[in-house]
Order: sequence, then structure tokens, then C-alpha cells
Amino acid sequence: MLYRLTDEQEMLQKTMRKLAVEKIAPRAGEIDEKEEFPRDILEILLEHKVLALPFPEEYGGLGVDLLTYCLVVEELSKVGLTALPFLTSHSGALDCFMTGGTPEQKREYLSRLLAGEFFAFVLTEPDAGSDVASMQTRAVLQGNNYVLNGTKCFISNADSADILMVYAKTDPKAGIRGISAFVVEKGTQGFHISRKEKMMGGRAFQSCDVVFEDCPIPEENLLGREEGKGLTIILEFLHKGRIIVAASAVGLAQGALDYAINFSKERIQFGRPIAQFQGIQFIFADLASQLEAARQLTYKAASVAEDGGKEGMKLACMAKYLATGICMKVTTDAVQILGASGYMRDYPVERMMRDAKCLQILEGTTQIQQVAIARIILEE
Ligand SMILES: Cc1cc2nc3c(=O)[nH]c(=O)nc-3n(C[C@H](O)[C@H](O)[C@H](O)COP(=O)(O)OP(=O)(O)OC[C@H]3O[C@@H](n4cnc5c(N)ncnc54)[C@H](O)[C@@H]3O)c2cc1C
Repeated sequence: MLYRLTDEQEMLQKTMRKLAVEKIAPRAGEIDEKEEFPRDILEILLEHKVLALPFPEEYGGLGVDLLTYCLVVEELSKVGLTALPFLTSHSGALDCFMTGGTPEQKREYLSRLLAGEFFAFVLTEPDAGSDVASMQTRAVLQGNNYVLNGTKCFISNADSADILMVYAKTDPKAGIRGISAFVVEKGTQGFHISRKEKMMGGRAFQSCDVVFEDCPIPEENLLGREEGKGLTIILEFLHKGRIIVAASAVGLAQGALDYAINFSKERIQFGRPIAQFQGIQFIFADLASQLEAARQLTYKAASVAEDGGKEGMKLACMAKYLATGICMKVTTDAVQILGASGYMRDYPVERMMRDAKCLQILEGTTQIQQVAIARIILEE
């Protein structure tokens, strides 16, 4: 088990901290307020090669391990979730190619990601959220095309996507094992965005409903050129995705905690800084300890992720469960420590508290993590 980061990892952390503070933080409030797709943030991440980091060198990536990538996600999340859609759903959709694609598909789509094209991950449906097996979207082979029919919801930034990684049933009788993954290009006939949601927080995510009506997908756009590979791809996406979301929760919580600590040293009540009251100090001691526990669990889950197996899966679920819960607590308490100022939009902790909630829902809700953890420990 690793208990000390390498010099390279510490250097990368420092670079990412500077990027977050100088380039992302100044835009965070505006993107939240205007609910706009942050294409400029995507460009900044491309320019600094952040998006190439987790992908294998043989296909054009930089090949860093998951722990190193989590350190990057943590630093960039300290100023909010503005960059997170690119580090999760966008990169995650590309990761699906790495799990299930042919070598040609891996090379082609990674080069398109690095050229600035944007990817959406299209799984959730109105009647299939946590229960993926209830998916209704169908893909039927007719001649050289699969014909796609169905409705998807809560899809992040689908309206800005150049490429959609879409899941559909090719063999409904096989249940969850009958799911396949398809690449749908922007502009394909029969595909449209039916609605854009207004969200509480995490507004860089831009939630869309997507409809496929007799949408023809060329046979070669079946991921891995093989039906029924969808489940394996989804499980791998969720496994890594949960650890990345945990890292983001650790970063967001640390950002909110740091802000509250600095505020408490400046705010004078009853003739002294509120940081000098034991009631406030105990809150900080509690939050900092719990946050460090979540960080260490996240690092451990990231370190063993590539080994696979039940132990890795259990740690990933535990990290997501613990880190997102603590993030919710830290950001809520940070608002409390700032008093009325914390409730005002001029201060970032208000946005951070709204952002924190979405981390407990996406990539498997808190309860789904508990279900998975309990299932594994009861089998052990
Ligand atoms: C900001 C954001 C971005 C998202 N981006 C995407 C995206 O890009 N692509 C995509 O495909 N999806 C995306 N989603 C959707 C997300 O994956 C789903 O919201 C999530 O899987 C939960 O599904 P649901 O909302 O339908 O809730 P449901 O599954 O209906 O759950 C409702 C409640 O019931 C609980 N519950 C469900 N089953 C159980 C059980 N067995 N035991 C105990 N409790 C249970 C849940 O924990 C929850 O509290 C996004 C969601 C959000 C909030």
C-alpha cells in the first residue's frame, strides 16, 4: 500500500492546483449562473493535456495510473465541479472504447477526443435509472444498419456532443446481458434532444433528454463489433467512475473546508475571530478527520482498481459512498460557518453545497453503493 506520493505526483498536483485557481475558479460562478456548456474549460483541459492523461500511450494517451488521475481530479474539483463533466462522462464515454472497442476504434476515437470533439455517455432512461436491466431502448439489425428506438434522460451535455456512446438492448430476452454499446454521431437522422433540464447544482453537466426514432446506426458503429458486450463496458465505466467521483468529492470538500477555515480567521464576533471559539474548532476537527479518512480510502480504491475482483469493487463503492457523504456534510457545514454570507451567491460555498448533492446521485446513488457493499461483505 502506498502512503507517500511520488515527486512526479506532487508536481502534477501543484500544476493542477495552479490551473484550477487561475483558469477554472474565475469562470465557476458564471457557468453556474448562466447554466452554459463550458467549452472554454474543455479547451483549457485539452491545452494542458489533462484529457490525455488516463488513456494508454499506445493509442495516443499519456498512460498515468488511476491514483495519479484521481489526484488531478481532486485538485481541479477544489474550486467546484466546473471541470468534472470532462473528467467523468466525457472521458468515461471514451473509456468505454478502451474497454470494449476494437484497436481501430480505440485509436480513432481517442484522436477525436484529443482534437476537441465532445462525447456523451447515454445510459439512463425514464424507467431505468439504478435498475439498468429495465432498459427499453432497442437496436435491431436491418441490412447493414442497426435501427435504434428509445428515450434516454439526464444525459450530461448531450446537446453539445459530437459523439454519443449509447446503450440499447439487442437481445431483450437475455436481460442485462442483452445490452450492446453503439456510437451515434451528431446529426444522425432520427436522433434529437427533446428537453433540457434546470438543475440545482453541478450545472456544467447540462442535463438533456434524448430521443431515438428509427435512428439508423451503421453496423461498424457497434462497439467491439460484437453484440452483448454492454454489461462488461458499463461495469468497468462505473467501477472507475465511482473512484473518480469519490476523488472529486474529496477535492470539493477540501475546497469548501479551506474556504470556511480562512473565513473563520477573519470574521470577528464577540471581539475575536470565530475560529477561536471551541464550538467552531470542533466542527473543523471533525470535518478534517472524516475528510482525510475518505481521501485515504479513495487513494486505496484507486491503487487497487486495476487488480479487478470483488475487493476492488467493494473499495470503489465504499470510497464513493463515504467521500460523497462527507462532501455533502463539509459543504453544508461550510455554509453554516459563514452564517448568512454562506447562504449568499457571492460566496462559493453556496454553489459548492448545491454541487455536492449531485455527487451522491450520479454514477450510482448512495443507496446503490450500500446495496453493492452489503452484497459483497455478506458473500465474503
Ligand atoms: C448531474 C447528473 C448527471 C448525470 N449524467 C448522466 C449521464 O451523462 N448519462 C447517464 O446515462 N445518466 C446520467 N445521470 C443519471 C444518473 O446516472 C441516475 O440519476 C442514477 O443512476 C439514478 O437513477 P434515477 O435518478 O432514475 O433514480 P432511481 O433509480 O429511480 O432511484 C430513486 C431513489 O431510490 C433509491 N433506490 C433505487 N434502487 C434502490 C435499491 N435497490 N435499494 C435502495 N434504494 C434504492 C435511489 O438510491 C434513489 O434514492 C446523471 C444524473 C445527474 C444527477
